[in-house]
Amino acid sequence: MRVYSIPMRTRFRGVTRREGALLQGPAGWGEFSPFAEYGPAECARWLAAAREAATLGWPAPVRDRVPVNATIPAVGPERAFEMARESGCRTAKVKVAERGQTDADDMARVEAVRAALGPQGRIRVDANGAWDVDRAARMVRSLDRWELEYAEQPCATLEELAAVRRRVDVPIAADESIRRAEDPLKVRAADAADVAVLKVQPLGGVAASLRVAEACGLPVVVSSAVETSVGLAAGVALAAALPELRYACGLGTLSLLEGDVVRDPLRPLAGEIEVRRPVVDEEALRRWEAPSAPWRERALAAQAHLDGPAVVEVAR
Ligand SMILES: [Mg+2]
Repeated sequence: MRVYSIPMRTRFRGVTRREGALLQGPAGWGEFSPFAEYGPAECARWLAAAREAATLGWPAPVRDRVPVNATIPAVGPERAFEMARESGCRTAKVKVAERGQTDADDMARVEAVRAALGPQGRIRVDANGAWDVDRAARMVRSLDRWELEYAEQPCATLEELAAVRRRVDVPIAADESIRRAEDPLKVRAADAADVAVLKVQPLGGVAASLRVAEACGLPVVVSSAVETSVGLAAGVALAAALPELRYACGLGTLSLLEGDVVRDPLRPLAGEIEVRRPVVDEEALRRWEAPSAPWRERALAAQAHLDGPAVVEVAR
């Protein structure tokens, strides 16, 4: 086990550095990077994903490229236009409902992104659960003037998502509502969404995520947990193995980090990421390496909640 700590280009989830552990096994490297506030039971699924990557590898891909979206934060319209243009992506996810911003700010940002992408581009908005039902219904309808592909997590709860979904024609995607394997089934049962956003680590690996995708029966958007290329490769493997991939994925997140642990990072080119598994580079890793003891403790605590072979041993 090796541990990395890489500064974030912009603050994310209140953190300024992304930290995690990398496990090496016979099948390659796996990433174990649950966020700091997660306890051992929750971390167990993240560890299962790393163990799968290091010991088993992933199902065979059915495509060799994965389209990804640009992410446009809550910036002004001029900057939003530039970011969408420079991304090279045909799909943009636009952040809306950010605290301190007005509905008019959101409208201006989406309008600018539509101007940047042209009529062929696809635009999705992400409210991170911040709207109530009435405001969500009104805003989604208003923003759909610029043709939305879908609206991601307009409200916080499944009941609210279902209510919004009944009131608008724009498809609804569930992101924060899906944090464990049983959640997509609950989303489906509540008629709360048309699209499921899945992340490999919280769902316990690529094979587990494929089973979740099949069981919930909704089109899937694979997203990252803001990982190094080691973790991203698992997301890319999931997106590459899905029988159908209707939407661009949220895997173009490497630009949020100051650095990476491989020599040939999984960066998008012209809006697509190549399906491959980059190799950890000793020099790159050493540059960002951090003490492994705290992460060994975390992994051991998580492992106690897992069945199957141990991947972390207690130091004697
Ligand atoms: Mg989201």
